[in-house]
Amino acid sequence: MTTAVVLFTRDLRVHDHPALTAAVERADRVVPLFVFDDAILGSRYAAPNRVSHLLDAVVELRSALGERGAGLVVRRGEVLDAVREMVVEVRADELHLSSDVSGYARRREEALRSLARDELEGRLRVYTHEGIVLVPPGEIEPSGGDHFKVFSPYWRRWVALEHRQPEPAPSRVPMPTAIRTGTMPRLDELVDTAPGADLPPAGESAARTRMEEWFDGPVDAYEERRNLLAEDGTSRLSPYLHMGEISVAELVARVDRSQEGQEAFLQELCWRDFNHQMLAARPDLPHSDIRTQHDRWRDDEDAIEAWKQGRTGYPVVDAGMRQLLRDGWMHNRARMIVASFLTKHLYVDWRVGAWHFMDHLVDGDLANNFGQWQWTAGTGTDSRPNRMFNPVTQSERYDPQGTYIRRYVDELADVDDPHIHAPWEAEGTLLGGEGDYPPPIVDHREARARFLEARDA
Ligand SMILES: Cc1cc2nc3c(=O)[nH]c(=O)nc-3n(C[C@H](O)[C@H](O)[C@H](O)COP(=O)(O)OP(=O)(O)OC[C@H]3O[C@@H](n4cnc5c(N)ncnc54)[C@H](O)[C@@H]3O)c2cc1C
Repeated sequence: MTTAVVLFTRDLRVHDHPALTAAVERADRVVPLFVFDDAILGSRYAAPNRVSHLLDAVVELRSALGERGAGLVVRRGEVLDAVREMVVEVRADELHLSSDVSGYARRREEALRSLARDELEGRLRVYTHEGIVLVPPGEIEPSGGDHFKVFSPYWRRWVALEHRQPEPAPSRVPMPTAIRTGTMPRLDELVDTAPGADLPPAGESAARTRMEEWFDGPVDAYEERRNLLAEDGTSRLSPYLHMGEISVAELVARVDRSQEGQEAFLQELCWRDFNHQMLAARPDLPHSDIRTQHDRWRDDEDAIEAWKQGRTGYPVVDAGMRQLLRDGWMHNRARMIVASFLTKHLYVDWRVGAWHFMDHLVDGDLANNFGQWQWTAGTGTDSRPNRMFNPVTQSERYDPQGTYIRRYVDELADVDDPHIHAPWEAEGTLLGGEGDYPPPIVDHREARARFLEARDA
């Protein structure tokens, strides 16, 4: 009789879960396990918005497995200890998990392999499966390199591949009955503070509902609407992709490339794989410049605080920053504008901004967040590293009526349309009084000159 443990990580679903499917196919008994990992919970990565989403998703996973005749064993502590204990308790022959790309995930995988090989003297076999990205790092490589540093050639190769087809959820998971599954922790046992934001519902069924709504129509208009800040023109699937309540393979399989909007959507899913292959090749992506510009970043606490609180005096920047605080999510166009503003107008280190994002984003993701921050700061994969987004023209173009701004910046609710993008230009506007909207903390032209000089550009 073969017994397999399936270790869930950030792949919290039963549909298209190659590790679960393989275990069910190969073993007579399958033990699904999730570990609330102290190493992660004790780090800055464990932001309340994300941990809250994670917990709800794990609760739902337990019930989805319950409907399949199994349960989900939950443990709290070090992953290696929890797996060792479980493997010994159920006398497991196999361990299945999704491979992941961060330095931490790779060390975890290596530690599990060494547990199997050395401590358990080969009695346990470890199998990894592609459950997190679509195209695993290294599957496509540029000539003369081991990973792609530029998106366009990656996209051309990625889109031409024959992609993995999603697998159905197993109808039955044969879990032995005599296992203590463990109590689900409460959120306040996992994090010290409550989530600050108005978060979307978590869990596989919410993810699948959102996927259905998205492919039912809105996806076709993606190309036209994706940059319009006030519209619900993007999928909002990012939290579910991050925690794996939906698989990227399933989304890709649903895309109809003959529709223009859907092709553009596919390209964004490819960006996700692109950033993941980047993180796999450069585990220092969250810490070090990929292509250094030898920046000597400014250390300006007041400006950083104004940026974090959404009080820079640039309405579109402030709307984005307040959306982050209120919703735990930010529109992609706004992410680019605020990140460019911090790193270029204020000339503040991208790590400051990236970690502030990680503190609040429900979709906060090592590969995507740090990859895109470095892209915007010009230290990463952007081929035009010194490009700067002008917050006024971006605002005029992507929020022409100021609807997005008014939604998040209450002080500007009564400012008329022509002045909503640059209220300091309105005659008779008094800015900067108590409770008022602040005047701009930097002048665009001066900031631009300072940045270009610093970059020697
Ligand atoms: C400074 C900055 C920080 C970012 N931080 C994150 C982050 O922490 N987590 C995250 O998932 N995305 C991040 N992104 C990328 C992007 O902003 C979000 O993925 C997107 O806004 C999520 O909304 P959506 O699901 O509606 O996206 P859609 O436009 O519907 O796209 C579908 C999916 O494609 C992926 N995707 C879209 N755009 C990108 C991109 N540029 N790079 C990589 N993947 C992409 C996401 O998984 C997204 O859910 C960041 C972008 C910038 C500029």
